[in-house]
Amino acid sequence: MASNKNMLVLPGDGIGPEVMGVVMNVVDWMDKRRAVSFDIQEDLVGGAAIDANGAPVTDATVEKAMNADAVLLGAVGGPKWDNLDFSKKPERGLLRLRKDMDLYANLRPAICFKALVSASTLKPEIVEGLNIMIVRELTGGVYFGEPRGIEDLGGGIRRGINTQVYTTPEIQRVARVAFELARKRNGKVCSAEKANVMESGVLWREEVQKQHDDGFEDVELTHMYADNCAMQLVRNPKQFDVIVTDNLFGDMLSDEAAMLTGSLGMLPSASLGDVDETGRRKAMFEPVHGSAPDIAGQNMANPLATLLSFAMALRYSFDLGDDADLIEQAVENVLATGKRTADIAEAGTAPISTTAMSEALITELDKMAA
Ligand code: NAD
Repeated sequence: MASNKNMLVLPGDGIGPEVMGVVMNVVDWMDKRRAVSFDIQEDLVGGAAIDANGAPVTDATVEKAMNADAVLLGAVGGPKWDNLDFSKKPERGLLRLRKDMDLYANLRPAICFKALVSASTLKPEIVEGLNIMIVRELTGGVYFGEPRGIEDLGGGIRRGINTQVYTTPEIQRVARVAFELARKRNGKVCSAEKANVMESGVLWREEVQKQHDDGFEDVELTHMYADNCAMQLVRNPKQFDVIVTDNLFGDMLSDEAAMLTGSLGMLPSASLGDVDETGRRKAMFEPVHGSAPDIAGQNMANPLATLLSFAMALRYSFDLGDDADLIEQAVENVLATGKRTADIAEAGTAPISTTAMSEALITELDKMAA
């Protein structure tokens, strides 16, 4: 059927094509059973692009990504390309896409599926029902600030320098993403910084507050020092709905929050840019995990992180929240039957393959849609 849902699919390397295959089966299912179809273009990124084109991503692929409603990426990298110069490695393809698309807001949900409560290192009552979203600023802050480098001061002494720097527009735009997300969730944002010891933190706090007071008064805003936030995440994570924070603190807090819920094979992410004149927001969706060369080609990868990333695309790029809910519920139901890939299988139970997981998901979706 006719469609204006334009998605660029970049399976990448290692387990990337295997887990993306499962998503494509669900896309086919949606076409047949929900009459929701996509215009899908597939292209190369990472090592696969280096082998075919001599670069981890070509200008033509970047152009397609810029024009897509959403980009869905598998994973990049692997031992075959480990010895290349840093500027030519597979990961550069990913970094270039993020940079050229100006994807400044990185969304990392931490959701604890009921069936996986025991996979968390925390007590079940602390994590059961957990559903929080970390919004990390992705294109500014100390990872990009100038001056940076290592100086030789003479006399055997060296000095390493990085600069934490934020401008008001950089803070305002990521804060707006957090407030807009909170409106679609439980209406709460906690902003984390170190305003007690950093001027950039003072600016962060003031600008987030200003954005809030300028049209987002319906959202509850609290401020927290980032070190306290790290502690609260393990003490009582369910107090949070959306957490917004800078690049450095977000790097750490999002990993911490993610691991509250168990396995790397379950973690989706989204990176969002600005809304253009046609109302379309640039967006890339990808699992948090890498290309897992140790299990690639063995039909044992967990495809759920990539499938849940697709569900995020449905929710945030295509405004198909009901379909996203359906997929997330299908994941929950399949896990509840005990069918799990090796990374999340319960001790003493036989794991299922990637393709068996795909079949189980389609069977569950059929049952739910009947
Ligand atoms: P990794 O995430 O690929 O793997 C870490 C461990 O988790 C491995 O034991 C792997 O088997 C397991 N694992 C990961 N995803 C899994 C899944 N879906 N199902 C089951 N098990 C899974 O990280 P790594 O080993 O540090 O890196 C491998 C390669 O991936 C490197 O080249 C690295 O640069 C690259 N990498 C890419 C990305 C990305 O594309 N976004 C992210 C991280 C690492």
